[in-house]
Amino acid sequence: MKKVSVVIPVYLEEEVIDECYNRITKVLEDLNDRYDYEVIFVNDGSTDRSLEMLEKLAKKNEKIKVLSFSRNFGHQAAVTAGLKYVSGDAIVIIDADLQDPPEVIPDMLKEWENGYEVIYGKRKVREGESKFKLLTAKAFYSTINKLSDVEIPKDTGDFRLVDRKVVDVVNSLPEHNKFLRGLFSWVGFKQHAYEYERNVRFAGKSKYPLGKMLKLASDGIISFSTKPLKIIGGIGMISVAISIIILIYTILSFIFKWNNLTAGWTSLMCTMTFLGGVILISFWMMGEYIARIYDETKGRPQYIIDKKINL
Ligand code: UDP
Ligand code: MG
Repeated sequence: MKKVSVVIPVYLEEEVIDECYNRITKVLEDLNDRYDYEVIFVNDGSTDRSLEMLEKLAKKNEKIKVLSFSRNFGHQAAVTAGLKYVSGDAIVIIDADLQDPPEVIPDMLKEWENGYEVIYGKRKVREGESKFKLLTAKAFYSTINKLSDVEIPKDTGDFRLVDRKVVDVVNSLPEHNKFLRGLFSWVGFKQHAYEYERNVRFAGKSKYPLGKMLKLASDGIISFSTKPLKIIGGIGMISVAISIIILIYTILSFIFKWNNLTAGWTSLMCTMTFLGGVILISFWMMGEYIARIYDETKGRPQYIIDKKINL
């Protein structure tokens, strides 16, 4: 019998854990003629009763497993850790707050049986989310898709069902600070968008304040793109170009006495703009080397083999 593993990051979710457990296990128990299951809750350093509640659930149901962090390391770290411990053939990543309905898991499993290997949830509607959140999310996805080499489908979060094979590949990537939705897109394989309606949070508040959101966005952009470094080069070249125009103008105005120049202005202007540009260009060149070092240290493989035939 095949097995489904569900990974759920949990941070200060005492108000939702029981409901989350009930709804997820209901869905998974209904599949029990075809699938075995396990649910791995990753407690990301909650300071409320979350861990205590999870321990209770684990005692009641041996298919519930719990990982608990020593402190809050963040949502991506929690999911990354959970993925290392899964033993199923199909792996579901879902938030604890029930914004993503567990009831769609059987449908996602159908797509998986049809041969898709990454079935990512794509939000049709996002109920109950602030205009601010929707706007920032939109800005983020369009920025990252402009800057980086991988396409990250917009309106998707981490809610997805992934084949074991793909999880193994992602687990084997040595980089820290994994930006999972980017990596799951980057690794390739047969991907499929599963459209669903995102609900309001069952209870409690969002655990993603602006600071965490910005960190996620910068991790996403910086780990998939070195273009920000190249932008410095562009600015540098524009300043050098402008400095040359100023240079010509100041020299001409010095020679032809176009205006009453203060002594020293000409040479100051020239050196300032020119050097500014040269410095920026140097930063950019150094940046190019740093970018390459960064790429190497991430240690991502150059390619990923999906299948081998007669080998
Ligand atoms: N989460 C976590 N660590 C954190 C922040 C959030 O494990 O530092 C979990 C949280 O418990 C939830 C999921 O990540 O299961 C998504 O968080 P949330 O729903 O607060 O984010 P939002 O949906 O508002 O983006
Ligand atoms: Mg949420």
